[in-house]
Amino acid sequence: MLRVVVLGAAAGGGVPQWNCGCEVCRAARGEQPELRSTQASIAISGDGDHWFLINASPDLRQQLIATTQLHPKPGTLRHSPVAGVILTNGEIDAVAGLLSMREGSPFTVYAHPKVLAILKANSIFDVLNEKSVKRMAIEIDRPFEPALPDGSASGIEILPFTVPGKGAWYLEGKAHPGGNGGDGDTLGLRIRDAGTGKYFYFIAACADVTDDLKSRLSGAPLLFFDGTVWRDDELIAAGLGTKTGQGMGHIAMSGDRGAIETLANLDIDRKVFLHINNSNPALLKSSQERKIAERAGWQIPADGTEIVL
Ligand SMILES: [Zn+2]
Repeated sequence: MLRVVVLGAAAGGGVPQWNCGCEVCRAARGEQPELRSTQASIAISGDGDHWFLINASPDLRQQLIATTQLHPKPGTLRHSPVAGVILTNGEIDAVAGLLSMREGSPFTVYAHPKVLAILKANSIFDVLNEKSVKRMAIEIDRPFEPALPDGSASGIEILPFTVPGKGAWYLEGKAHPGGNGGDGDTLGLRIRDAGTGKYFYFIAACADVTDDLKSRLSGAPLLFFDGTVWRDDELIAAGLGTKTGQGMGHIAMSGDRGAIETLANLDIDRKVFLHINNSNPALLKSSQERKIAERAGWQIPADGTEIVL
């Protein structure tokens, strides 16, 4: 059985974002606290006892408190059910949470060599002593099985693949510690229960749905997909910023080339948006955009949503 808990559904900044007075952020601070959401991450488990995080968000500490499955085992002085963290990119909202896991508990970080190079180049991550926190390189199109703390198999097979996207924002125009060319900065994952064969896809950042990606996702039982913006120029139109969704490496939900349209009719059982920016009107339950997304079969999850496959 594969268990998935949505630890956070929001894009960078979360909902509300510390410096934002947009409609969603104002509502989240005020009359609609249910809109509050932490930055995107999920936890997965094959046995219900050991868990792997997909990305470590800056809100990880709060997410670990809110998620009983991730609490230390009763009767233990030092313990965490978190056996590993799989990183799909090097953005702040994917890696900063690692710094909250610095109290000496062993776990393993799995990431592409380009993302590992970013961690290595930033000495602050040396707080995670490599004796107890191993860093394992993962390869594109090569499945791996993260290990349990005793070295035994977790029963979860993960296949990383490349999706259209961008490198981390803070490296724009700079030398990438892992080299400026080549893939590896933005990964999608297929996560499969080796026992039952059930699987799902995790794609929290994606700039374009190509024909290759469509055929990969066709018939999937469950998909978590990039829901950053409703429309490409949303931040500019709202006066919130200067970047387009595409400029940040994210596809829009709406439009001819958007996620709703391009991922329709692919026989995907359950479609869940993740990494939703606070500027996105689909977060508001009463909005037209929310109705369009839901009518097209998409779910916008609350933090803590659990799905069992
Ligand atoms: Zn806002």
